[in-house]
Amino acid sequence: MKRTWKDISVPLRDSMVQWPGDPVCRIERVRKMEQGDMCNLTHLSMSVHTGTHMDAPRHFLPDGITMEKMPMEPVIGRCRVIEFEVEDQITADDLKKLRLLSGQRLLFKTRNSARSWTMKEFDKDFISIRSDAAQVLADLKIMTVGVDYMSIGGYGKDVVETHQIMLGAGIWVIEGLNLSEIKPGYYDLICLPVKIEGADGAPCRAVLR
Ligand SMILES: [Zn+2]
Repeated sequence: MKRTWKDISVPLRDSMVQWPGDPVCRIERVRKMEQGDMCNLTHLSMSVHTGTHMDAPRHFLPDGITMEKMPMEPVIGRCRVIEFEVEDQITADDLKKLRLLSGQRLLFKTRNSARSWTMKEFDKDFISIRSDAAQVLADLKIMTVGVDYMSIGGYGKDVVETHQIMLGAGIWVIEGLNLSEIKPGYYDLICLPVKIEGADGAPCRAVLR
């Protein structure tokens, strides 16, 4: 079988869906060749937590490290895609059935991939990681966890607890993936966040092979 790279990032678009209350993504062409400008030039304004992105520990920990200090190991290498059929949150019990190993890179595929990204509004009922499951991942010393919607923690649920537990344990978090074309299994992952000094997160492009 030919091993080709598959893009698991979502496209950035003007006014794209965003976590409620966060700045709206603005993409605007400010120089236009069709209007006589020398070149085309696009201005971009958005939260670093827009679309496919990573969270730095600083996002939920006042003294946590920031994006430019991230090592490369968490985002380049072997990873495991796990599919969950759950309807609410991924729980500790869901994780205990799997044979997870310390140091693994894990991507969680849920119904979010096929459903939430197709919705015009923010999907408040997206599948997230319950805080007891976050604790299992922390105790196991998982290296990286990727999820297929905007947050590891649920909206109006345990968004703070789940982030604090996982970021506090040194787990590198990728949010906003689209895994609809990806079957569960083992892959090579490359996910490179933009090097933004002092940032609590950064947009990234993520691919699997
Ligand atoms: Zn984030």
